[in-house]
Amino acid sequence: MKLIILGPPGAGKGTQAEKIVEKYNVVHISTGDIFRANLKGNTPLGIKAKEYMDKGLLVPDDLTVEMVKDRLAQDDVKANGYMLDGFPRTLAQAGALDQMLSEQSDKLDCALAITVDYKLLTERIVGRRLCKCGASYHVSFNPPAKEGICDKCGAELYQRDDDKEETVVTRLEEYDEKTLPLINYYKDKGILREVNGQKDIAEVTADIYAVLDDYR
Ligand code: ADP
Ligand code: AMP
Repeated sequence: MKLIILGPPGAGKGTQAEKIVEKYNVVHISTGDIFRANLKGNTPLGIKAKEYMDKGLLVPDDLTVEMVKDRLAQDDVKANGYMLDGFPRTLAQAGALDQMLSEQSDKLDCALAITVDYKLLTERIVGRRLCKCGASYHVSFNPPAKEGICDKCGAELYQRDDDKEETVVTRLEEYDEKTLPLINYYKDKGILREVNGQKDIAEVTADIYAVLDDYR
């Protein structure tokens, strides 16, 4: 199965991606995670990306597309299929992905869009807490058993630098202007499937499973 998961920041892509991997065993490729790993490792890519990420802006297409191309060339994605999370985020990136796939006579099975009213997003993003093991929580909507501590590994949770309220405004504007047109792009291709991301996390997961079972 090859899919992309679409939706504004805070829609629940990362949260649901964990559940999708559990059931369908696809490789989860989050461009945000790859950028953050580069940032942490102080690589040339991370240093370039940081100036955009800190401001809530999208990283330029050429850097992002090159990074995804390298990732999709790795063996694990060939064996199990993959789910792209946070990519594509512009029409240019979507075109580049189509090109990469068509060079291998391949195509996407599904573009899964999680829809959430913008009014709910800021609270979701500002309350997000993460663990270095990859687990993700929300201070109110999905809290860990012990405040500030990961249920899975016991490590201390942290907040992403760009999850502060002042950066969130720009991130949502970037989404609206550059990423939202992808909904129609994939609708026109006939592969868009939408789920309501405003329900409880478990209900959203059940709705997503009902959609993705069509592609097994
Ligand atoms: P994205 O990857 O789309 O930016 P996340 O999956 O990280 O979004 O979710 C953003 C925040 O909202 C997280 O703190 C998460 O726990 C919380 N969240 C995700 N889905 C829901 C939901 N259906 N209801 C309430 N909170 C949610
Ligand atoms: P995310 O983890 O998906 O919320 O992404 C965090 C940040 O990484 C974004 O605000 C962008 O600065 C950058 N980023 C992630 N994916 C992309 C992409 N496909 N195109 C451009 N920038 C991206």
